Amino acid sequence: MTNRVALATSNLGKRAELEPLFKELNVEFELPSKSTLDLIRETGLSFIENALIKARAVAAATQLPTIADDSGLMVDALGGKPGIHSARYAGTPSHAERNNLKLLKALADTPEAARGAQFVCVLVYLRSFDDPQPLIGYGRWLGRILCEPIGTNGFGYDPLFFDDHMLQSAAELSSDVKNRISHRAQAAHQLQQQLAKYG
Ligand code: IMP
Repeated sequence: MTNRVALATSNLGKRAELEPLFKELNVEFELPSKSTLDLIRETGLSFIENALIKARAVAAATQLPTIADDSGLMVDALGGKPGIHSARYAGTPSHAERNNLKLLKALADTPEAARGAQFVCVLVYLRSFDDPQPLIGYGRWLGRILCEPIGTNGFGYDPLFFDDHMLQSAAELSSDVKNRISHRAQAAHQLQQQLAKYG
């Protein structure tokens, strides 16, 4: 049997990564309407608050169990910025190339040894909009920020994010490999374990 679950995102890059991560659970994702997503205001101060805000709004609109993701890039030399503001770091509407240029400028005088960063992802599952026991998965992917973009895969900050174990940028990794090691993969793995136990 397929489980219908709403996915609270309009980001096609995230959606493409999340779908295979939940394949084992036989989940069929339904996307909320643009008008539902447009009404959501991410007013939280943390990834988890914003993921809950998105999940609650979409669960209320669709009347379906809902998964929402909130994620972003935290750069050590910038005190954790852009963090929860990663999507719109260079202004609204969200624009990946402008965000990457702004990040490169902000780190122009930062030496390689001080360019540490992490991608963070929180995934939330709500059975209904008023679910008092949300299930939560959390993931962190450590790396550093390159001095110029490398690679064409993925989305967002991927061309600037270097993984020192893989010796490649996130945008050079195949989608299969990124989906094994990324912050989103780690959060999905935790959430799947919770769903199996408490879903
Ligand atoms: P939000 O979770 O929709 O508020 O936005 C997250 C933002 O963080 C994205 O728009 C990207 O800029 C960035 N981001 C999150 N995950 C990734 C990733 O896997 N690769 C590159 N950028 C990411």
